[in-house]
Amino acid sequence: MTDRYWDVIVVGAGPAGSTTSLLLARAGASVLLLDRARFPRDKACSEYLSPATTPILERLGAGVLAAIEGAAHAKLYGMKVVAPSGVVMCGRFASDHGHMPPRPYSFALSRAIFDTILLRAAVREGAAVHEGTTVEDLVWDGRAVAGVAARSGNGKGKTWNARVVIGADGLRSVVARRLGLIRTSPPRRIAFTTHVANVAGVDGVGELHVGERGYVGLGPIGGGVTTVALVVPRSLVRRRGQDFRAGFFAELERYPGLAGRFERRCLVRDVLATGPFGQWARRPAVDGALLVGDAADFFDPFTGQGIYAALRGAELAADCLIPGLAPGVRATTEPANPGRERGDQAVRRELRPAQRRVDPLARERVEEVGGVAHQQGAAPGPDRRA
Ligand SMILES: Cc1cc2nc3c(=O)[nH]c(=O)nc-3n(C[C@H](O)[C@H](O)[C@H](O)COP(=O)(O)OP(=O)(O)OC[C@H]3O[C@@H](n4cnc5c(N)ncnc54)[C@H](O)[C@@H]3O)c2cc1C
Repeated sequence: MTDRYWDVIVVGAGPAGSTTSLLLARAGASVLLLDRARFPRDKACSEYLSPATTPILERLGAGVLAAIEGAAHAKLYGMKVVAPSGVVMCGRFASDHGHMPPRPYSFALSRAIFDTILLRAAVREGAAVHEGTTVEDLVWDGRAVAGVAARSGNGKGKTWNARVVIGADGLRSVVARRLGLIRTSPPRRIAFTTHVANVAGVDGVGELHVGERGYVGLGPIGGGVTTVALVVPRSLVRRRGQDFRAGFFAELERYPGLAGRFERRCLVRDVLATGPFGQWARRPAVDGALLVGDAADFFDPFTGQGIYAALRGAELAADCLIPGLAPGVRATTEPANPGRERGDQAVRRELRPAQRRVDPLARERVEEVGGVAHQQGAAPGPDRRA
């Protein structure tokens, strides 16, 4: 079953997908955002927003930063790294990352809250959202991507068509897989994450504890809750057949800077597992489709840059798609003006139904800018993965 023809279908409503949807919808494009989850949903993550994300959240407008400040969150003033020997190095954030006003801290908050704030902002800007909808395949028009085939929670299959499909479906991206673009490289890792209350010794910095066989990232996320992520090589999980969910706290005790800081009874969320990573896409764009966020390139959690890359990639993707979607579409990332509805209708009338995908020039720009998005925040190549 198929219905109307969309300008853009975005697969995945994480930070990359919701931000791309917000920006494209604001510019007047018709945007359908699909996610298999229902929000708010948990996400295996250390839930730290690097300082470089704050200016992007400010630029997004739509009340996003105010909503974060109004929700349960923590402020992190730096990052502490603890070596296997117990030696500690602590760095404080500078306040001049381009924030207005200058902030010597970054935000940390539960992904259930953060991702829902972004999703709701995208809806307010005009994106249509279907939650509980799993994309299973791409629809092709010759060699070009022309839509998606998805299944809803009740098992009903449905096909949607669009001029552009954006794969923002994360680490295990179906869109990237169907495009045949997935690449993997060692080290392959698995992560286990949870929320724990009343962790001893947590102050206003994030912590990274490096061990002989993995590492642990932790930090406050507000409300007296600490997010804890244990990352270990996949080979260890396979070799020992150990249940790292059940043995989560026992494993933490192996780290000199963590021993004795947790009480099992203070676990406030089940341990989630994710992986293996890392993986990335050989190219970020093909005819009719573009990848952003983890779907394009997964950043090892040790870098703490995954959400930044997702947000910045969304900005770059929107910047290059907007001019190609329709001549006359307002190419801006400024908040929508009150007359937006009327403006959108005019823009949509200008969209030629026969122009099924972005024009070739825009496509070239997608390739070019997508490549930049792919490399934001780190030098290219497998050796940058921690
Ligand atoms: C253990 C761990 C800790 C991390 N800690 C940090 C950190 O502290 N700071 C940081 O910046 N980054 C961190 N990261 C990285 C960060 O989580 C990701 O980079 C970020 O979530 C990428 O956003 P995204 O929107 O690309 O993908 P995601 O956030 O993964 O969102 C993808 C969305 O797509 C949906 N989806 C998937 N498949 C389908 C489908 N077939 N159909 C429909 N919907 C689908 C999912 O439900 C999900 O909502 C961490 C990662 C891990 C694994």
